[in-house]
Amino acid sequence: MMNKNILMIGILFGLVSLLIFWWLKSPLGTKAENMHISATYNEQQGYEQFVKQLPQQKWDKMNWNSPFYMNNGGLPRYIRDCEAYITVNEILVKQEEPKEEPKEEPQKEPIEKPQQEIQRKRIALTFDDGPNDKNTVQILSILQKYDVKATFFVIGLNVVKHPEIVKLAAQQGHEIASHTWSHKNLTKLTPAQMHDEIDRASNAIFEATGQYPTTYRPPYGAINANVRDEIKMKSILWNIDTMDWQHKTPAKTIENVKLHAKDGGVILMHDIHKETAEALEGVIQYLIQENYEFVTVEELYK
Ligand SMILES: [Zn+2]
Repeated sequence: MMNKNILMIGILFGLVSLLIFWWLKSPLGTKAENMHISATYNEQQGYEQFVKQLPQQKWDKMNWNSPFYMNNGGLPRYIRDCEAYITVNEILVKQEEPKEEPKEEPQKEPIEKPQQEIQRKRIALTFDDGPNDKNTVQILSILQKYDVKATFFVIGLNVVKHPEIVKLAAQQGHEIASHTWSHKNLTKLTPAQMHDEIDRASNAIFEATGQYPTTYRPPYGAINANVRDEIKMKSILWNIDTMDWQHKTPAKTIENVKLHAKDGGVILMHDIHKETAEALEGVIQYLIQENYEFVTVEELYK
């Protein structure tokens, strides 16, 4: 009897140890080639805890231009899905570092430039899932009123329904980017299906505007190594989520922008909802007041 109890305790102890080991499994053990960067916005903690522990050579091996998967924070829940957590701001900072080049004539321009220009923050308004014959048109007229350029991630199926709206948006200087042909989760498709989703959308955009898109946003923000291997077009996610599609409340959309606006921000909205169109003036007015410069996604990641 005694021996059996000891055996049971031994097995239990072993199981608990295994569980603890599984939980604590360090992100450092994974291969840099397979590094899956999860950008958690408003999640400085994630960066502090994990990315700073990564050996320097892993940083260097990372392809900073590769698309990154984003989720809404929640570090403990996602810890086993991703090897590294990082804030979007950190990604942008890292991307910019190699650009530093010694200037040949640093003293050429004294202190002529107004300080305001140097400190100007840049932000990109992005609208997904359109075009829509009512709300996109309203959004375009508000953008025109404030002379603000935005990026529209259009769905191919909607482009062929309203090519004239896409054409108008392009003529007004907005970036027309792809949101695939029919808004499928690319990670669940075969390579041939992925290419079909991307190519059909690109062709529809070209038909409407005379230009092929240079960037795309994967539906649901769903992207993985398979998609990245197949689709060479630059993928763009977001780092400020208004959650407009969920609450459909203009005041909340504006509030989310006020809470999270930052330099290098990419704001996610959807031009298929009338509440988003209603929120837009408030969003723009706030960002103007905060001295933001509006840029397209292409300009932001140039
Ligand atoms: Zn979408």
